Amino acid sequence: MSDIEQFPAGARVGVLTAQPLDRILTYRAPEGGCVQGDYVEVPLGPRKVLGVVWGPGEGGFDASKLRAVIRVLDVAPMRSEMAEFLTRVGDYTLTPMAQMLRLATRAPGLSDPPSMRKVLKASGHRPNRLTDARAKVMDVLMDQPGVGFTQKELADLAGVSGSVVKGLVKLGAIREEDTPRDMPYPRLDPSLPSKELTEDQAAAAKQLTDGVRGGRYGTTLLRGVTGAGKTEVYLEAVAACLRKGRQALVLLPEIALTAEFLKRVEERFGARPAEWHSGVTMTERRRCWRMVGQGDASLVVGARSALYLPFRDLGLVIVDEEHDSSYKQEDGVLYSARDMAVMRASICHAQVVLASATPSLETWANCEAGKYKRIELTSRYGPAVMPDMRAIDMRQEDLPSQSWISPTLKAAVNLRIAKGEQSLLFINRRGYAPVTICRACGHQIGCDHCDARMVEHRFQKRLVCHQCGETKPMPDACPECEVEGKLAPVGPGVERLAEEVRESFPDARVAVLSSDLFGSARALKAQIELIAEGGADIIIGTQLVAKGHNFPKLTLVGVIDADLGLQGSDLRAAERTFQLIRQVAGRAGRAETPGVALLQTFQPEHPVIRAILAGEEERFWRAEASERQAAGVPPYGRLAGIVLSSPDIQAVFDLGAEMARRSEPLHQIGAQLFGPAPAPIARVRGRHRVRLLVKAEKTAPIQAALKRWLAQFQIKGDMRVSVDIDPQSF
Ligand code: ADP
Ligand code: ZN
Repeated sequence: MSDIEQFPAGARVGVLTAQPLDRILTYRAPEGGCVQGDYVEVPLGPRKVLGVVWGPGEGGFDASKLRAVIRVLDVAPMRSEMAEFLTRVGDYTLTPMAQMLRLATRAPGLSDPPSMRKVLKASGHRPNRLTDARAKVMDVLMDQPGVGFTQKELADLAGVSGSVVKGLVKLGAIREEDTPRDMPYPRLDPSLPSKELTEDQAAAAKQLTDGVRGGRYGTTLLRGVTGAGKTEVYLEAVAACLRKGRQALVLLPEIALTAEFLKRVEERFGARPAEWHSGVTMTERRRCWRMVGQGDASLVVGARSALYLPFRDLGLVIVDEEHDSSYKQEDGVLYSARDMAVMRASICHAQVVLASATPSLETWANCEAGKYKRIELTSRYGPAVMPDMRAIDMRQEDLPSQSWISPTLKAAVNLRIAKGEQSLLFINRRGYAPVTICRACGHQIGCDHCDARMVEHRFQKRLVCHQCGETKPMPDACPECEVEGKLAPVGPGVERLAEEVRESFPDARVAVLSSDLFGSARALKAQIELIAEGGADIIIGTQLVAKGHNFPKLTLVGVIDADLGLQGSDLRAAERTFQLIRQVAGRAGRAETPGVALLQTFQPEHPVIRAILAGEEERFWRAEASERQAAGVPPYGRLAGIVLSSPDIQAVFDLGAEMARRSEPLHQIGAQLFGPAPAPIARVRGRHRVRLLVKAEKTAPIQAALKRWLAQFQIKGDMRVSVDIDPQSF
């Protein structure tokens, strides 16, 4: 490519490193020269650090005094689109470039030379007479000629012990060969037959594939109830992308969903894609990063950070369950993966598909404004229909204290058990009880480091702080008044609900799905499979069950506390409740038997509950949109949250007050400043937190103003300032 700058040996080059210096350093190009985008190792003080050749270096120094780049790494150079993406995300989120580079180089061992490993292959001499076990091994090798296996893989595939394989090596039937450690991924074959799509699905798929073929940027909302076949449809867009020879990325909000998805990809394209998320081994991550850069991975399935993989030619990004709040990173660089996917795609002329049954208000508004296209799948695939939704008015139900399952819901569950169908009871609260109170003095047990109550987790026999993760054993006596035996749980969590279920339905098989009850992704996966196969009558779950799982025998969903999300000052509360309950309800009736969703509520006439029951999504969005418009908040206005934190309470309040006093740069763009006020959780991990909110018109240059404003203050000692553009809660 002609616009990539070349630097001959000895030329001045500017190198961006991942070190917190926040400026480009100048070095001498190494022997053999380098090009813009090259990943390099450079000396920094006594250390060697990773960097990227960003452009020409600064003049004005004595070139002979410059230190030289140590070496150029053996990986594909960073493409200019990636550099632009990092710059734009950095500018948008006010994140220093060094930190952005860290996001883009989150693969281990990048500076290691590509290492070799030993693999086993057939040698070509097949001995005449073989034991059964040995013959099985040889068959595996013959089935996939040319593929190298480790001893363990080969033994596992053949279903024999490792010693059988060793024996064959000794016999000379198998030989060892060195191959590069990072192997290209198997090719996905888009020409394999797809499922036969319904008319609606085919029309939707055509729109998406036309977009992909066009090779330009565009974003489309693919909206459809759970089970409508959105995944089938967007897999056709992936097929079109692969046919064009470009790469595709599918983002999922939850690692637990990947296993099922990988299987579907394998069925459709004959091989598994590359995976990128926290559950993937370091070796595999390294392989993924390198192969994506070389173009030897055509499809990646991953978590939000996969957006920073060095794609060679990204043609399509799918954001599945685009409304999911986990797409917003809440630590480190604060970005919404959905919005960044759109940004990335617009830079590299790719298509974005946002799939959801319950789109975010942001996306809905972008469709209304004509920025995104919108495709609807209105009915479920096959005989399945949306569940019938009904409220259980808890004011009319006769419930003993310390119990949460109404007689009406109990009867409905019993009916399902009698028919051999499954019920799901949903409560969005982990642990046993949200509050532990002393009946003698009224004291509530709180965390020592945070302004938060400790939550009893009876399964672990401990109290846990959901803010900082601190745990302590459940005490016998009240820490305040020291009276023994008076500590009592208040309110239900998922564990306590499970206790009530076991008492109320003693013969039922019960499965609990809550993220903290599983030590490993594998255990969770096993539990999900058990449920899918019908190995449970009643499933009790937190938010985890709302997402995408397919339980064909599930016909009843009971929402224990439909009002839970409606309290509090969070302006997104209504939207979240609406999405969550519609999603959970969507779990019911996925196969032939129609489903029912019952919502336990004390306020059946609340507008959000009514909208959920009536399924009047369009009306709900319009009402919600006009409220936000009136308040001038996202997506109709711009917000930024600035959180100051320090162990020193005086220092945070002082700095907050000073920031409020010197807010001229904000007023210049017509922005309003609120605060300082204690943050929603005023103390976390021993750090006091103060928040300021900046509100501006949609078109105001908020980043530039924030930069000018924040540059006025010296951030000293243990003080931290974090800026969150488009905060989730406000
Ligand atoms: P969504 O992503 O909208 O929730 P899925 O794509 O997961 O929906 O489809 C729900 C179920 O219906 C899946 O098991 C899927 O394989 C099946 N399905 C959807 N469309 C078809 C089709 N045209 N032919 C066969 N099975 C289909
Ligand atoms: Zn805590």
